[in-house]
Amino acid sequence: MPGQSAVRKQLATLPSTEQVLSWGRYPQLAPSYVHKPAWNDEVPEILKGAAPGALLPLGLGRSYGDSCLNGGRELIDCRRLNRILGFDESTGVLRCESGVSLADILDVFLPKGWFLPVTPGTSFVTVGGAIANDVHGKNHHCAGTFGDHVRQIALHRSNDGMVICGSEVNPDMLRATIGGLGLTGVIAWADVQLKRVAGPWIDAELVPFHTLHSFLDLSHESDGRFEYTVAWLDCFAGKNPRGIFFRGNHAADRGKPFRLKRGPKLPFALPAWMLNRFTVRAFNTAYYRFNEFKKGPAVVSYQPFFYPLDSIRQWNLLYGRQGFLQYQCVIPEAKLDAFEELLDRIAHSGMGSFLGVLKQFGSAPPAGMLSFPRPGLTIALDFAMRGERTLQLMQSLDEVVQKSGGAIYPAKDARMSPAMFEASFPRWRSFVPYIDPKMSSSFWRRVTGAQD
Ligand SMILES: Cc1cc2nc3c(=O)[nH]c(=O)nc-3n(C[C@H](O)[C@H](O)[C@H](O)COP(=O)(O)OP(=O)(O)OC[C@H]3O[C@@H](n4cnc5c(N)ncnc54)[C@H](O)[C@@H]3O)c2cc1C
Repeated sequence: MPGQSAVRKQLATLPSTEQVLSWGRYPQLAPSYVHKPAWNDEVPEILKGAAPGALLPLGLGRSYGDSCLNGGRELIDCRRLNRILGFDESTGVLRCESGVSLADILDVFLPKGWFLPVTPGTSFVTVGGAIANDVHGKNHHCAGTFGDHVRQIALHRSNDGMVICGSEVNPDMLRATIGGLGLTGVIAWADVQLKRVAGPWIDAELVPFHTLHSFLDLSHESDGRFEYTVAWLDCFAGKNPRGIFFRGNHAADRGKPFRLKRGPKLPFALPAWMLNRFTVRAFNTAYYRFNEFKKGPAVVSYQPFFYPLDSIRQWNLLYGRQGFLQYQCVIPEAKLDAFEELLDRIAHSGMGSFLGVLKQFGSAPPAGMLSFPRPGLTIALDFAMRGERTLQLMQSLDEVVQKSGGAIYPAKDARMSPAMFEASFPRWRSFVPYIDPKMSSSFWRRVTGAQD
């Protein structure tokens, strides 16, 4: 009878033929092989057996473009490394494997009065993915990024074995791994600082606005009073967009039972013709009117407040077979004219999307070497993939961002040029020495020209 570890090894090396797509379903770059370790002690063998530049860790594939893809090479699917290893009640520090999802953490710890320190707009991301993209949330202005709350990690490196990184030991490797796009090694586990909350409820408020300046006034005025701020924007409105400003704080416990709602699932990709400038414009108008009607304060559960899209599983199929791209950039606030120009180009293109999200980043120093957030206005917009026309629009938006001294977010990108990457992350070369020689990604090869 083979021993337990031999069986585990056999399972881990079974060929996997499944399709691996990122959230935008564009580009489609099939890996040559997907390793699926169930235990952290299987990872060193995988690293040892790989060629230089052959590997990339994969989380839940919620990155939109190619930063979680490794076309023609291998992926290490980390989703089965999903064990909670310990929790210190007195400090709120959670130790968990890197494949644990933020949804898992909320399921276990919210009933005990603990919440995530920072969360992106979906709970279906892993701790490894949240660290590797140094994700941000609605509280960036007061809490920084996810990486700001990571106290320690253990990293599998192909040449150094398991490396512990924290503020006292290997702090530079920690700074490289936060926002390091999975290139510094495989995160085995992480210590994440959770925060105390009274319960699952949020004191929320919806405020309609009609110009970019009124958005900014609302944002400045709310920053000191509200932990969470973000806005939805009607991207058909041009320079002076209307939108809805969402703000909120954790509420006192209401003593009301709370039931997690899981919504329907989109069963297949919708036909591309269903999404056109008329249907999207109509959606934007209806969404604005609906929320304008609901304006004012309300107590809501954390789910619709933080994760409105998580209630429709596979909503990315809405954009059809060709998939979609998300454009997320940040522009310094002093360059408001550039931001207006960007909105104007989007409105004129007629290709705008349902989900224009606008947020003012705070001034916290970056937690990682390649962290995206920096002071300024960030906007995220989805565009259905319509070939050259879509790519040209994005290229023209890049020109505006580059001129303003802004940056593009790698977690959302599928097509920025090496020059745009250089402009967004001018110090990327100082990150290169921290890359694990066995790691590479389609994104990294595309934006830096690296072969391995
Ligand atoms: C609806 C939606 C809303 C979103 N909202 C936001 C938002 O508000 N803010 C924001 O910042 N992002 C947001 N995102 C993007 C998302 O948070 C990031 O792309 C996140 O990194 C995805 O995590 P994942 O587990 O799916 O990782 P993947 O997408 O699979 O991988 C992301 C990166 O993590 C690396 N990685 C994964 N596991 C490990 C590991 N164990 N060790 C080392 N590296 C690893 C991969 O190599 C890759 O480089 C959103 C995405 C969606 C779909």
